[in-house]
Amino acid sequence: MERVLVVGGGVVGTMHAREALRLGHEVIHVEADAAPRRASVRNFGLVWISGRAAGAELQLALRAREIWAAIGHDVPGVGFRPDGSLTVAQGPEELTVLEAVAAADDARARGFRLLDPAETVAVNPAVRGALLGALVCTQDAVVEPGRVLPELRAAFAATGRYDYRPSTSIADVGPGWAADSRGHRFDADLVVICPGSRHEGVAAPMLEDAPLRRCRLQMMQTEPFPERLTTSLADGDSLRYYPVFARFPVDRLPAPPPIVADHRIQLLVSQRATGELTIGDTHAYDEPFDFAVEEEPYEHLRGRVESLLGRALPPVRRRWAGVYSQATDDRVCVRVQPVAGVVVVTGLGGRGMTLSPAVAEQTFAELGA
Ligand SMILES: Cc1cc2nc3c(=O)[nH]c(=O)nc-3n(C[C@H](O)[C@H](O)[C@H](O)COP(=O)(O)OP(=O)(O)OC[C@H]3O[C@@H](n4cnc5c(N)ncnc54)[C@H](O)[C@@H]3O)c2cc1C
Repeated sequence: MERVLVVGGGVVGTMHAREALRLGHEVIHVEADAAPRRASVRNFGLVWISGRAAGAELQLALRAREIWAAIGHDVPGVGFRPDGSLTVAQGPEELTVLEAVAAADDARARGFRLLDPAETVAVNPAVRGALLGALVCTQDAVVEPGRVLPELRAAFAATGRYDYRPSTSIADVGPGWAADSRGHRFDADLVVICPGSRHEGVAAPMLEDAPLRRCRLQMMQTEPFPERLTTSLADGDSLRYYPVFARFPVDRLPAPPPIVADHRIQLLVSQRATGELTIGDTHAYDEPFDFAVEEEPYEHLRGRVESLLGRALPPVRRRWAGVYSQATDDRVCVRVQPVAGVVVVTGLGGRGMTLSPAVAEQTFAELGA
């Protein structure tokens, strides 16, 4: 048994802690904040297989989906639900893309099937708006982003090999050790740093040449919606966004309205176990990011959801923005090992909730641990 220090209490750090424990190691897990409050708790909770690029990324996503299902079984509090998703076409060009996607060679692996309007309502009776068809993805799933981290930590504690230290910010690191901002030293055989979008600080010298950028998204959440959404939802603007669609005729989609183009909007909707709808999102890449959330994209997103559901949304109760770290080349994440015994993992982009269990598995496999 070795001693592993995991730095970062987001989902990537937490999944690395899980994998280290699974391999029989002893884990110290430190988090700078009093409770993780960044991307890992600000997301939709979507385990989103449908959007992944064909090939290695899809294979990794499918492996992650398997692990999520196992986690959902062992730790029911994470709220894993294999609900699937609908990507809805409201224009003929969107439908053309979805037809091509549903006919592609990897459609079966993703659980893709094209539905006509009647079949769409049969799959998700809450979708009563005007639509031409929808792509169902039976592999997509959802978890509760507010519950995943504490539920997993509670399960880890039961191993007797897990020591979690919140409010502990690692300021310095070297082979076999790390020190926090108060000068406390941790000795470990392996230090895994999962800093999320905190590219500055202890990870900065290690990420200096890494192809990374940050992305800021705006989100909102309604009061409980009176119906159960049997699937998560995406609109036609998501066709411009996800790599899976890039090899299909997305260039023939009509130009997006200025509000969509300016804020790089796509609509995604997931429903919380308690009924609230989590709705987003926008994408901003130019730093420094705005400290405020902008109302105009929210008005657009509200209109889009209402046009899919064919009814008014309940009042919005919460709005927030979140930032993730994203690899800018075609790798799934940035994983660097600056010295023996230290590895940094970040840059999973808008797919970190989905991929993190499989990325953690890959990290330890690559280290030969
Ligand atoms: C609005 C939004 C919606 C999203 N929706 C989805 C989705 O539905 N599905 C999906 O798959 N992905 C989604 N994502 C992406 C996903 O949330 C991220 O990829 C993922 O949460 C990144 O996890 P992380 O652990 O790397 O980062 P973070 O969640 O940022 O966690 C990093 C943690 O490390 C800590 N830390 C950093 N430096 C130190 C240090 N020196 N010492 C101690 N602690 C430190 C930080 O305090 C932080 O808590 C979304 C992201 C956003 C922002």
